[in-house]
This record gives sequence, C-alpha cells and structure tokens, in this order.
Amino acid sequence: MRTPLIAGNWKMNLTLREAEALARQVADAAAKYNDRDVLIYPTFLQFVSVAKATAGSRVAVGVQNCSAEKDGAFTGEISASQAKDAGAAYILLGHSERRHVIKESDSFIKQKVERVLDQGLRCMLCVGETLAERESGNAEAVVLDQINSALSGIKPDQWKLISIAYEPVWAIGTGKNATPDDAQKMHATIRKRIAELNAAIAPGIRILYGGSVKPDNIGAIMAMPDVDGALVGGASLKADSFGDLIKNAK
Ligand code: PEP
Repeated sequence: MRTPLIAGNWKMNLTLREAEALARQVADAAAKYNDRDVLIYPTFLQFVSVAKATAGSRVAVGVQNCSAEKDGAFTGEISASQAKDAGAAYILLGHSERRHVIKESDSFIKQKVERVLDQGLRCMLCVGETLAERESGNAEAVVLDQINSALSGIKPDQWKLISIAYEPVWAIGTGKNATPDDAQKMHATIRKRIAELNAAIAPGIRILYGGSVKPDNIGAIMAMPDVDGALVGGASLKADSFGDLIKNAK
C-alpha cells in the first residue's frame, strides 16, 4: 500500500514571512487527512523557519537541491550533510529547471544522488522528457536513461530512500499536462524498470506526477494505479489551492 504524497515545490518564490505563513496554513490543511502525506520544498534560506513553523505537524520539509560534493571549497553550495543537519526530510534532485536551465548532466545528478544516500536521506529524483523528445517518440527511452543513470548501482538498503517524480518538461509551468492515461503509461514503465533494478522495492516505491497539477485535475491523475502523488509548483504557492490539492488528492 503506497500512501499518496502531495509535494509543493516553492522554487525561488515567497518572502520569509510569506513562506512561514503558508507553511502554517498547509499544516492546518494537512491535519484534516491522515491517509496522505504532505511535503514542502522551500528555499534553503527559508528551510529552518519553515521547518519550525510546521514542527509537530503532518508536513515534512525538504530542500530543492544539494551539492554533488561532500564538503569544502564550493562557494554558494549546500551539502547533503548540511541539509540533514538542518533537519531536511527529503532532497529533490534532477528537477527539469536544474537539468535544462542550470544544465546539470545525468552524471552530475548521479553524484548528488550518491551524496544524499550516503547521508541516509530521502531522495526525490525528477525525470522527464522535453516536447521534442516526446514528439520524436523517445519519451520512454529518455526517462529510462535518466532512471538508469541516477539509480543503477545503488545499494539494496538505499532503495527505500528513493521516490521518483515524473515531470514532462513541456508540462511544467505551462498549463499543459499529460493525460491521466499518458501519465499512467509512463509511471508503469518507470515501475517496470525499477523492478528490473530491484524487484522487491518496485511495488512500494512512490512515483509522483508533476506538471501543471491543479486542484481540479489532481483527482483524475491520482486515480491512476501507478500515480502515487503529485509534485506541484505554481498551485502550491497559495494556501487555498494547496489545501484543495491535499483535499482532492484521493
Ligand atoms: C514543478 O516545479 O515541479 C512543477 C511541476 O511546476 P508546475 O506545477 O507549476 O507545473
């Protein structure tokens, strides 16, 4: 049985005061449902305050990225061990904005996955194809390559720390989303590949969908058998819509 997970990616938005207030409102909304998990990813700067604002609630707090290095002279970076020390429950890696805007490669993301797993922290790995890759019929191959690259060779006891977010690049922040059937098809493909890598873990691993998820479409997407949650950007930035996402995520 996979508990649904609704995760809000706040990206580079909100002031500290806004983030704290929204975090408290999300905690209130999450308190109404004990059959679904809720997670938020504020900025690094806001992490500690948001974690305090949600302490004792059903809301977990993670960070949006970490360094590929352990520690040392890497100005502007934050290590996985520092994220752990600050209390992060998850580290989000491989988001499409980091792959395509910051130009992070598969091998660089793999290094980060290793840093996170070395710390025993949970890693949410984002994968997804561009529009050109989908239109040329390569969506599945691209996504499976991203999975293979990031996850092959991880230790058996580390698999329990992994969740996947399938986010077609063309659907992020665009108002377009995959149909529930298309999302299901890709999620089933991902789960099959995970089963090839670790058969025991595949039935329990959470695979979230992301890309213009809103309160009015989350229900249909999450009704699909292999969709275990949603990673949400824009619609997670307002208390009302985040509350409705949690409510409708059944
Ligand atoms: C995201 O940032 O991961 C995302 C899916 O954004 P949006 O919901 O705004 O498309």
